[in-house]
Amino acid sequence: MGLELDLNKRLTKQEAVDLIKNADLKELGRLAYAKKKQLHPKGVTTFVVDRNINYTNICWVDCDFCAFYRHEKDEDAYILTFDEIDKKIDELIAIGGTQILFQGGVHPKLEIEWYEDLVEHIHNKYPQVTIHGFSAIEIDYIARRSDISIKEVLERLHAKGLSSIPGAGAEILSDKVRDIIAPKKLDKDTWLEVHEEAHKLGIKSTATMMYGTVESDEDIVEHFDEIRRLQDKTGGFRAFIMWSFQGKNTALMEKHPEIKKQSSNRYLRLLAVARLFLDNVPNIQSSWVTQGSYIGQMALNWGANDLGSTMMEENVVSAAGAANSMNQQEMIALIKDVGEKPAKRNTAYEILERYY
Ligand code: SF4
Repeated sequence: MGLELDLNKRLTKQEAVDLIKNADLKELGRLAYAKKKQLHPKGVTTFVVDRNINYTNICWVDCDFCAFYRHEKDEDAYILTFDEIDKKIDELIAIGGTQILFQGGVHPKLEIEWYEDLVEHIHNKYPQVTIHGFSAIEIDYIARRSDISIKEVLERLHAKGLSSIPGAGAEILSDKVRDIIAPKKLDKDTWLEVHEEAHKLGIKSTATMMYGTVESDEDIVEHFDEIRRLQDKTGGFRAFIMWSFQGKNTALMEKHPEIKKQSSNRYLRLLAVARLFLDNVPNIQSSWVTQGSYIGQMALNWGANDLGSTMMEENVVSAAGAANSMNQQEMIALIKDVGEKPAKRNTAYEILERYY
């Protein structure tokens, strides 16, 4: 007999750990798919046409798992000019894009006024483009550097046109893990505080998880639980997105050669448990950029209801060896191939165009 779960009952942390450790992968997929259908009964799989813009690669945080950052004096360190940013947005608009995922580097010297000018410039010139930008570490650092509160940073950037914030930098919400993989990065409570403050101001965000370094199954479930608890309080997370650590060119791989590349099975297993556990987070994205398009497609049968972005430009995980790409037509074909209905969405998960 297969695995039985009451899908209307909340999973406990112990149940989630048991599922990760012991459940049959196909059975898990069946349950996560049933949960997805409960939340998204129409069989529509969405995607967004956006562009990552990394306005700088200069960063003082030096995360051991990151191959993207540079220091100010490095030859290939950069800060994009407004003109360079505009050109990228023009290209995005030309292909029907609606959103920019706008993130650094955490530049050691830039203060709130610089960010206000930047957001204002983009928003005034491109009011139709949603600015989904600045992860918790950037917000926290701008606050400290500018000697103002996290709330004030969020209020001021929101007033200039910042629409929502990405969940990057959550990694695993356990200080024990963070102290090993990114000791200078903001702690778990500060990541949660930034998102809670944002939600209170009406700024929605996403939650993420990067697994596959030094965490345990219990740490992963703790991470899920932190997100579920904050979501119970605020309802501000639109989606959950998880991916595995991409090790190429990173200091973490040199320091911890025992870290193994994560399998596709592991990805699907964790994704399914995330779908079952995070009963209050409406959307789960598939990370085809790190897993490849076919596992990304398979994830739709393991609980994901969204294929994320067509990724016109991606600089961060590609610096660490993930080199997958897909255009809108390929994405539509992949979705149809598993019997789902493809639709383009905006940042708020509202349908813009249907392809069925
Ligand atoms: S992950 Fe982000 S914060 Fe960490 S070093 Fe890379 S760019 Fe900086």
